[in-house]
Amino acid sequence: MKILLVDDSRTMRNIWKKVLSAMPGTECFEAGDGLEGLNAITEQGPFDLMLVDWNMPNMDGYTMITKVRTSDKTTPIIMVTTEAEKPRIIEALKAGVNNYVVKPFTPDVLLQKIEETLKKAGQLT
Ligand SMILES: [Mg+2]
Repeated sequence: MKILLVDDSRTMRNIWKKVLSAMPGTECFEAGDGLEGLNAITEQGPFDLMLVDWNMPNMDGYTMITKVRTSDKTTPIIMVTTEAEKPRIIEALKAGVNNYVVKPFTPDVLLQKIEETLKKAGQLT
């Protein structure tokens, strides 16, 4: 399974990668902002799952997702937010996000959200 991790924090991407290493057969790709994320989709996609941070320089996660969804309606996307963005999560769900995780999260919560999202998308039985 190819997973795209989009976050401006390298530390956060490393945490995700560590958590995802618990899932067999995952291959992680990384991007540091929304623009890099869109480039990664063009150059290395399609992906089976995307984890996208909300706050990033150059292009934020919300903008990136609205752009992705103009052509790709199906790839599961999990938005990673802080408490501060939580009131805006409805907007993100309307824009086509499948699920969300609020920072800080435990590895268990992240894995659970990923499984739940993939199951709903029919990619995991
Ligand atoms: Mg950020």
